[in-house]
This record gives sequence, structure tokens and C-alpha cells, in this order.
Amino acid sequence: MARMVIIGGGLAAAKAAETLRGEGFAGEIVLIGAEQERPYIRPPLSKGYLQGTDELSSVYVHEEGWYADNDVQLRLGEVVTRIDRAAHVAYLGSGEREPYDKLLIATGATPRPLPVEGADLDGVHYLRTLADSQALRAAFAHQGNVVIIGAGWIGLETAAAARQAGCEVTVVEPDPTPLYRPLGRELGEVFAGVHQRHGVDFRFGEQAARLRGGAGHVREVVTSTGAVLPADDVVVGIGAAPNVELGRDAGLEVASGIVTDASLRTSDPDVYAAGDVAEAASPLLGRRIRVEHWANALNQGPVAAKAMLGQDAIYDDVPYFYTDQFEIGMEFSGDIAGYDDVVYRGSVDDLEFIAFWLHHGRVLGGMNVNVWDVVPDIQALIRLGRSVDVKRLTDTSVPLDTTHSENGT
Ligand SMILES: Cc1cc2nc3c(=O)[nH]c(=O)nc-3n(C[C@H](O)[C@H](O)[C@H](O)COP(=O)(O)OP(=O)(O)OC[C@H]3O[C@@H](n4cnc5c(N)ncnc54)[C@H](O)[C@@H]3O)c2cc1C
Repeated sequence: MARMVIIGGGLAAAKAAETLRGEGFAGEIVLIGAEQERPYIRPPLSKGYLQGTDELSSVYVHEEGWYADNDVQLRLGEVVTRIDRAAHVAYLGSGEREPYDKLLIATGATPRPLPVEGADLDGVHYLRTLADSQALRAAFAHQGNVVIIGAGWIGLETAAAARQAGCEVTVVEPDPTPLYRPLGRELGEVFAGVHQRHGVDFRFGEQAARLRGGAGHVREVVTSTGAVLPADDVVVGIGAAPNVELGRDAGLEVASGIVTDASLRTSDPDVYAAGDVAEAASPLLGRRIRVEHWANALNQGPVAAKAMLGQDAIYDDVPYFYTDQFEIGMEFSGDIAGYDDVVYRGSVDDLEFIAFWLHHGRVLGGMNVNVWDVVPDIQALIRLGRSVDVKRLTDTSVPLDTTHSENGT
């Protein structure tokens, strides 16, 4: 009977284990995770859980008893340090061996460290794990001065949570708007406006040059313009690096992540990769992409599991992401690289709209803000792969699912 080993105790890993059993696999499944917690989802760590509105129990992928009930061997607090592909063995830090027939690497990503003097002071936080979120929650309860380095998703969600907890919040960002790289200037300005209305102070065009402390604790952030920002706590949100070392050391092909085909198979046919760590071929986009989003981990885990079982499984989802910040609830679909226009359907001022990113009239991406149940229609427009009638697209009286089906579009 085959033996499946899954490295990484996150969402992709847990969904792969679930799918292996769901598809009737009766052999051994071993899931090895470096954290002490059983697999959990991370989005609430910067939103509801950080704000104290979501219960701890709501973050776990499965009930505690699920693993034993489904005969999945859960090895928590264990790090895989080496893969011997020739021998088909994964080695733990303790030296223990875990032989495999098929192996899934779902090791996720690690926050990029802030490369400046003072970054090791107490009060400098990163946000990846449940423990990080708990530490931030305790820090925000003091309602002090919080400086956030980086206006990406983590930075902005944390800014909203800190502000809602009663902290003074300053966000330092070298780009001209928040979310400049994932969304571009137009939508970045929308997010900036919402945060500013809630009292978040932005310092665009600046970066943290050094952190200064007293008695080992951070006290100030000095920016690249020489500005000195008082800081009781600092949150670093400058991106994450995929945990590719295991794969690289094992001789697998690695680019921005562990390279896979559309079935999530790496350059070794017995080794698969899924979630944040995988750079997977996307049939939809015609190139490989690495996506650091919840839906990608949720849905790649099962595809990898099916492929490990020899099924003809392909991952071809439209990239999808969601966030909640103050009164913004939004979902984003697509990949907007190379867009040349942004158009709106609905009211940006009322924060109830869909933004579409276009290239020569073709929909590359869509973001629905406080408009719901439209993701399938937006993704259908993205999959259409040809130009649409922008007048109809932006006319709220034309049902979204018919915008491309009439008038010769
Ligand atoms: C605070 C936060 C908020 C987020 N919010 C959103 C959101 O709103 N929407 C969204 O779409 N996405 C969001 N994301 C991104 C999303 O959570 C990730 O894309 C997702 O967690 C990726 O899942 P994964 O299983 O690939 O990796 P991970 O969840 O990172 O899990 C990987 C696990 O593998 C373990 N591991 C690593 N190396 C080893 C090893 N050698 N041996 C054993 N174990 C190892 C790690 O410790 C980790 O527990 C957020 C992420 C964070 C951190």
C-alpha cells in the first residue's frame, strides 16, 4: 500500500490530506508541520481574530479529532530538514526517517525580515502565525503609537485592526499609494482614502531607515527622509519569501517558487508542491505563477492530492483574493499584469462598485467592493479572453452575466 507524506502543516497540506482520504486512498498519510498548532487558516490572523471578533476555534481547518478519525498521522512541531529523492525518504530534524511513495511540499512562506538597524528590538512584530497574531493583539490593547512598515495587504489590514483598537497608526510605504503593486495607483488611492478617513497617517515615498530603542524596546522609527516617528510597536509587512530551501537542496527546479506543471508535479514525478511555495503552470494565463493567497492553498491542496493518486487533475483556477478593512469588504479575481485601463461599474464614492482592469478592452481582473455574488461572472469575463463592450460592462442596468453576450462583443 502506498505511503503519502505531506510536509507543511498549513491549509494546502490539510486540504491535501482530506482529499486523499476523500478520494478513497486507504494507505498511510503522514502530515508533518513545524508549528505546534494543527493546520489553521491565516486570513483571520490579520482581521477578525486580531480584532477579537473571531473565536480561536474558527481558524482551524479541521476539528481536533478529525486527523485521528481519518487515520492521518499528524506530526506537529517537527521540521523536515532534508529530502532524499533517490531513497524516497524525508528526514526530520531529529534524524527520524519518513519514507514516502509520493511527497507533497506545502511549506508556505516566511515574512521578509526588515533589513535595517534596530529591527531586532522588542516591539518589532511580524505577522504569520497564530502566536504572532496573539502578540499583536496584546500590543494593540495598549493603544500606543503603532508604526507599520509596508502598505501591502498585511500592512493595511493590521493598520485597520490597530486603529480599531484605539492606537495611533502611521504606515510607511515607498510607493505612492498602498497596494500599488498588486492593484495599481487607481485602486490604491481608494484604499488610502478609506484609511485616511479613519485616521491612519501614511508616509508615502519613504522607507524605514532605522529603528531606535530604549532598554531594548523600540521607541522610534527614523525614515529615509529623516522623519522621526514615535513607535511603541512596529509591524513589518514587507512581503514573504516562499520556503523553497528543502526543494532546492533536494535538486528540484526552483524559480520564484518550487516549479510545477499544472498538476502541481515538480521536476520529480513523485514530488508535488502546492500553496504559497509552488510556482505552478497556469493554463489560463499561459505562464507559471506563484500565488500567496488563501484560495490558492485551499484549492491546490486537493488538486495535488488527486494528481498524487494518479488522477488527471489540473489546477486552472482564476487567482482569487479577499480582504476586509474598515467598511471595505472586497474580493479580487485575476492577474492584472500589463493592464492599460481601469473602469468602474457602480459608485466608487459610495464604496459599492466593481473595478475592472483591462488590456485592449479585455478583462484581466475584477475587484468587487461591497458588491456580492458576482465573482463567477467576473471570472467568466476574465476567462472570455477577448475584448468586451466597456459601455455595457460599466452600465449597472445591464446584468453582469450578459455584458459580453450581446451587441457583437
Ligand atoms: C496574516 C495573514 C493574513 C492573510 N490574509 C489573507 C486573506 O485575507 N486572503 C487571502 O487570500 N490570503 C491571505 N493570506 C495568505 C494565505 O494565508 C496563504 O496564502 C496561505 O496560508 C498559504 O497556505 P500554505 O498551506 O501554502 O502555507 P502556510 O499557511 O504558510 O503553511 C505552511 C506550513 O508549513 C510549515 N513548514 C515550513 N517548512 C517546514 C518544514 N521544513 N517542515 C515542516 N513544516 C514546515 C510552516 O511552519 C507552516 O505552518 C494571509 C496570510 C497571512 C500571514
